Amino acid sequence: MTTEQGQALSKPLPRPEHAFTDQFWDACQRHELIIPYCTKCSRYFWYPRQECPFCLEGAWEWRKVSGKGRVYTFTLVRQPGHPAFAEEVPYPYAIIQLDEGVRLISNVVGIDPLQLQCEQRVEVVFEEASPDVTLFKFRPIPE
Ligand SMILES: [Zn+2]
Repeated sequence: MTTEQGQALSKPLPRPEHAFTDQFWDACQRHELIIPYCTKCSRYFWYPRQECPFCLEGAWEWRKVSGKGRVYTFTLVRQPGHPAFAEEVPYPYAIIQLDEGVRLISNVVGIDPLQLQCEQRVEVVFEEASPDVTLFKFRPIPE
C-alpha cells in the first residue's frame, strides 16, 4: 500500500524502548526466544512483569526456550487494523502455546492462511522489520 504521495506505507512496529523488555527484543535480534522463568516456583510465564503471576515473587530470570509449540487457537484477520497490512489479508492472528507452557500472540507465516489449523506444530522464526526491531513469528513444522 502507498500513501497519496506514492510513498510506501510503513507498518507500525513495537517500540522496544522500555528497559523492562530490552532483553527480550535484544534476544529477538540474536534470533533467540527468551521467556520469563520464575526461579522461586520453577514456572515460565508470559507476559513479562515484575512479579511472577503464580507465586507473586520477583525472583525471575529470562531463559532461552525451544521456540517450538502448537497453534492453540487463531482467527484470520480480514480487515486490517492498520492500512499498511491491507495487502496481507487474510493473515492469522494466532495464540501459540509453546512447549514450555506459555501462550504468545503472534502470526503464522509460510502457510496458506486458509490451511492453518489448531494444534498445527510450529516453530519460531524471526523477521528483521527494521535495523532496531526483529519480530518473532511462527511457521509450521512437521509433527
Ligand atoms: Zn513464581
